[in-house]
Amino acid sequence: MNSMYMSLTNAPSKQASLTCKNISPLDSYFKRCQASKPQFTRIFFQVSKRKKRIVCQVNMSAQSTAGQVIRCKAAVAWEAGKPLVIEEVEVAPPQEMEVRLKILFTSLCHTDVYFWEAKGQTSLFPRIFGHEAGGIVESVGEGVTHLKPGDHVLPVFTGECGNCRHCKSKESNMCDLLRINTDRGVMLSDGKTRFSINGKPIYHFVGTSTFSEYTVAHVGSVAKINPAAPLDKVCILSCGISTGLGATLNVAKPTKGSTVAIFGLGAVGLAAAEGARIAGASRIIGVDLNPNRFEEAKKFGCTEFVNPKDHNKPVQEVLAEMTNGGVDRSVECTGNINAMISAFECVHDGWGVAVLVGVPNRDDAFKTHPVNFLNERTLKGTFFGNYKPRSDLPSVVEKYMNKELELEKFITQQVAFRDINKAFDYMLAGEGIRCIIRMDA
Ligand code: NAD
Ligand code: ZN
Repeated sequence: MNSMYMSLTNAPSKQASLTCKNISPLDSYFKRCQASKPQFTRIFFQVSKRKKRIVCQVNMSAQSTAGQVIRCKAAVAWEAGKPLVIEEVEVAPPQEMEVRLKILFTSLCHTDVYFWEAKGQTSLFPRIFGHEAGGIVESVGEGVTHLKPGDHVLPVFTGECGNCRHCKSKESNMCDLLRINTDRGVMLSDGKTRFSINGKPIYHFVGTSTFSEYTVAHVGSVAKINPAAPLDKVCILSCGISTGLGATLNVAKPTKGSTVAIFGLGAVGLAAAEGARIAGASRIIGVDLNPNRFEEAKKFGCTEFVNPKDHNKPVQEVLAEMTNGGVDRSVECTGNINAMISAFECVHDGWGVAVLVGVPNRDDAFKTHPVNFLNERTLKGTFFGNYKPRSDLPSVVEKYMNKELELEKFITQQVAFRDINKAFDYMLAGEGIRCIIRMDA
């Protein structure tokens, strides 16, 4: 069987045919091949009665895409706040230390929405958003040795070059070369975009731009994962869920029996709550302005709820009263500056730790009285939950594979790629948690 596989992968023509006496082993063999080799795009069998043999044909046309420009569909944001438009774009081949990915599933995170709205953020258009996704490597550029066509991967908005002081440090995931940069819309190697429409460049977003059937990323922004992991589920680990989980487990580090407040009960906050439950917190207090979040949050370990709108005093005071002076840990997942300040001021003096995760507006400033620090409260912040994307993300995927982490409950909607704007509507209306966008539909 192996020699047959070799002859197919090396076949120069667009179609290769082979003969085989028995169809069933071929069928399962090619299904496996297709999972790891995206160039096996079509497989079909022909039974020739006269010769009493089975002919298997594999369409090799996709194999020829390596080194070529790919024309495919992408959801382009032409202007701030205007619905995305599905366009045919040209995706250039990957350059040195880059890979081109076939995106199979993507989802929408609130960070995409902020930069698409561009109200308090840098405005850079036309742009292809998207950074929470799963896909398969289509081809690799010069110098890429640890990824190959067919690898299953999760692109990540903040990368890991592996060589800088941050990548070598056990504490940091703030890679000098590839750390999140929301303002850059071009590739690092040559300052150009890999997307264009009739020669007009279309900008990238956080080095991932996953709202496209094909995208190009720096190799350091791509985590290779277990090929058995279902990409329609683990795609949400490439941003929101790992971020929230890591913010609690790696940064806030609550001890068993402690009290944790979670501000913002979207996907990131609910994953942070899940982290608090895994850590053995006894009280997990969810804080959100949207009362619809509260029922759902119970599934993620929240034991109590506070809606700041229901009180006529600052929410930090409400939490202090509920907890005899303050919570042990708080994790802020809203992006709202006032919630960030409340999340800090609600932690107990002497030992309390607050962790900021939400992405603030460009001009926000954090204001609190310095005595809050003198009274021994700690304020921290994190991108991607302090996980190093390439080194650590594969093991988070394994947590799902080993049933230590449930992902299904985060996935509340699915839409076809052509309906991607519906995912924006759901998020803006605060409906559901994560919406999976299927690229093939
Ligand atoms: P989401 O919209 O699904 O959830 C946000 C929740 O916060 C909503 O339920 C909303 O009602 C609530 N909220 C908003 N303002 C509030 C306030 N003042 N007080 C209480 N609750 C409030 O968003 P998400 O996708 O879960 O993302 C959450 C935040 O995390 C966003 O700011 C996003 O940009 C950020 N983020 C950061 C990182 C990181 O690495 N640091 C990664 C992913 C997302
Ligand atoms: Zn995100």
